[in-house]
Amino acid sequence: LQSKLPAVGTTIFTVMSKLAAETGAINLSQGFPGFDCSPELVSLVERYLRKGFNQYAPMTGVPALREALAQKALEQYAVAYDPDSEVTVTSGATEALFAAITAVVRPGDEVIVFEPAYDSYVPAIELNGGIPVFVTLTPSEVDSSIANASDYTIDWQEVSHKITDKTRLILVNTPHNPTGRVWTADDIQQLADLVHDRDIWVVSDEVYEHILFDGRVHHSLMTHPTLQERTFVVGSFGKTFHITGWKVGYCLAPKALTTEFRKIHQYLTFSTVTPIQYALADYLQNPGHYRQLPDFYQRKRDLFLDGLRQSRFRFNPAEGSFFQTVSYADITDEPDYELAVRLTKEIGVASIPVSVFYKQKNDYRVLRFCFAKDDAILREAAERLSHL
Ligand code: PMP
Ligand code: GLN
Repeated sequence: LQSKLPAVGTTIFTVMSKLAAETGAINLSQGFPGFDCSPELVSLVERYLRKGFNQYAPMTGVPALREALAQKALEQYAVAYDPDSEVTVTSGATEALFAAITAVVRPGDEVIVFEPAYDSYVPAIELNGGIPVFVTLTPSEVDSSIANASDYTIDWQEVSHKITDKTRLILVNTPHNPTGRVWTADDIQQLADLVHDRDIWVVSDEVYEHILFDGRVHHSLMTHPTLQERTFVVGSFGKTFHITGWKVGYCLAPKALTTEFRKIHQYLTFSTVTPIQYALADYLQNPGHYRQLPDFYQRKRDLFLDGLRQSRFRFNPAEGSFFQTVSYADITDEPDYELAVRLTKEIGVASIPVSVFYKQKNDYRVLRFCFAKDDAILREAAERLSHL
């Protein structure tokens, strides 16, 4: 069989998690919480399982959950989505991303992708015959001319130069995996200015919308009217409620976009796990369940970084997400993949080499660590890394 994705192998998340398991290393590679979700949420799922909510959910999602999601968008971002025609529940954000990209991209269409990019974007574009056009974001230590020495700042002039008549879609991810960078209000305005008079759609991956630090606020693309009308906003409960294994996500988009999105969704998965949707609808009624996330994860970020301050790693604290990138340029010249494998085997700490999120080959010497772990684990990992 001739591969449709010849450049694709097993994802780095699977590779590094497997190596961590085999070697008994602390696994700060694949992004998932090292602690359980709330017992209240488990009880709710159990209740709906026992009540017999065990057959297909409606294709678009359980009405109560769509209503809860629309209510959340209204309360949090003051944007009204119609739960019947503009909110769709999906089997994880991964499915929503694939369906949104498939709804828009035709063979030969160009798609602007900021790299480093989450690994599912480019295969989804390519399977639809699209052409990814990369805007490369760099860590500050390789480009000291970047304003404020801030990592991974977007050069909007470059974005503007890369837009052509063939550009059909722009992919956005804020807070960003793997860099932890968060879009500012200015980034949102710059994007709006670029697309407002063009036939360009936007997919905005906002799965870390509730995980921001140092008082930052999440600028959802839905809050800008020019963007709202052309954007598929994608979210996931996996990050928000510590349930990455349940694979429930969603897409909010204006009616015309949702209509096309659902045509794909109904033949990808048709619908998403029923009892969990009912449980999530109830659990969402209390916003306290996600409002405590910034404090919860900021403590963990700071604990990990305090441990790393004695080390020779350099870093700018993550602005959001549960990932911290660090530069090891002062420690070794090894390529990042080799270093990540070596550190897993030799000191028992697994990470993700950030070069895998770039199409363009580079030697930025950056590793990504997931700090969604118990405090004792983070302390131990930082201690081991400090001796390098
Ligand atoms: N987008 C980003 C940026 C992610 O980090 C992840 C997974 N961690 C996903 C999408 C996929 O989310 P889900 O597990 O809900 O499919
Ligand atoms: N999103 C998670 C990460 O970035 C991994 C998800 C996956 O394993 N596909 O680590």
